[in-house]
Amino acid sequence: MTTQGPTPGTNTGNNLDPWYGHYADRTAGLSASEVRALFAVASRPEVVSLAGGMPYVSALPPELVSSALERVMRDNGPEALQYGSGQGTPAIREQILEVMALEGIRASVDDVVVTTGSQQALDLVTKLFIDKGDVILAESPSYVGAIGVFRSYQADVVHVATDNDGMVPESLRETITRTRAAGKTIKLLYLIPNFHNPAGVTLSWERRLEIIEIARSNNILILEDNPYGLLYFDGPPPQAMRSVDTDGIIYLGTFSKTFAPGLRVGWAVAPHAIREKLILANESAVLSPSAFTQNVITSYFSGADWRGQIDTFRGIYRERKEALVSSLSEHLPDLTWTNPTGGFYVWLTLPQHLDSKAMLPRAVKELVAYTPGTAFFADGDGRHNIRLSFCYPTPDAIRLGVRRLTKVINGETEL
Ligand code: PMP
Repeated sequence: MTTQGPTPGTNTGNNLDPWYGHYADRTAGLSASEVRALFAVASRPEVVSLAGGMPYVSALPPELVSSALERVMRDNGPEALQYGSGQGTPAIREQILEVMALEGIRASVDDVVVTTGSQQALDLVTKLFIDKGDVILAESPSYVGAIGVFRSYQADVVHVATDNDGMVPESLRETITRTRAAGKTIKLLYLIPNFHNPAGVTLSWERRLEIIEIARSNNILILEDNPYGLLYFDGPPPQAMRSVDTDGIIYLGTFSKTFAPGLRVGWAVAPHAIREKLILANESAVLSPSAFTQNVITSYFSGADWRGQIDTFRGIYRERKEALVSSLSEHLPDLTWTNPTGGFYVWLTLPQHLDSKAMLPRAVKELVAYTPGTAFFADGDGRHNIRLSFCYPTPDAIRLGVRRLTKVINGETEL
């Protein structure tokens, strides 16, 4: 029997897949993470995982979440179980304004588009703007999940140098000039200004202003992704970039880190015309974001001390960051790493002779896991870096993890 269908082209798949040849070219950008299999091993309980970025949801009092759920069903059951607006419920959009005001953003309920986590907002924005080969500028390194979305729309991700104060404006200027000289179209400038994933750095206020000016004068739209801004350890980071520019910035927020990622509720605030397109794209993708989980969040935020809960999260993450950084200082004093003032991540630079990906199997064998730096670059860079997440393991587990990692880095282990 012969199978009829398209002949294999540039699209992905393999010869064992009977549908090989049918996939759209854009699926070439959909590649499973090379370290996925190791992460399955890393989730075993005996492994200290400094790899994933899972918020510590166990710190949420279960009785408060249960009573939020009960109130939804008692007071608003039919609405919560129904399809809803493609823009999100008015009540949660009001709530989102209150959250964003903490970071200096003034907006109206009409400005907010609720999405299925901010991950979906990344997808919708990319879908709206990117044609094959368009350039998205991003920090160096950048969020692995954003790079994945950008690739899935065949964007060309170009990294811009980043240091302890975030993206370097001078490098942004040079990159724009160089990219344009190569005949490419730059569509978006993607930034994570606060407690960067994975770099752990925060963009200074002066640089925020300078970068906004560079983007404005070059007619480039900024995509400001801010999941971690409220999770500061000492004082708040500089105000959101969106607080100074409403015309040239799409801002993304989420309840994943201040409440719970399992509810999958995030949002976008965009210039007016873009917002209308985002709503249409949202409707086309999901009809409407989950009315149920939006109602749970509204109910929780109106019935519980959510500001106090964010404070509790800050305290927990601060203690874990201290545990990580102090054990790194104790055991690996010759290496360098970033010292974040909020968020979930530390970015460690390995000695030049070590390759972060090649070293991972040895680490897993020693029962510690991390994310290799290469995951955070579109261009294969990052071989001498690793991302360490301190959000999930307890301080004691973190200290144990660093001791194990030290053995691996110092070459005291064999595969
Ligand atoms: N952006 C960044 C920088 C992130 O770290 C994450 C989650 N790891 C997201 C977006 C997506 O988060 P969510 O979809 O849960 O809102």
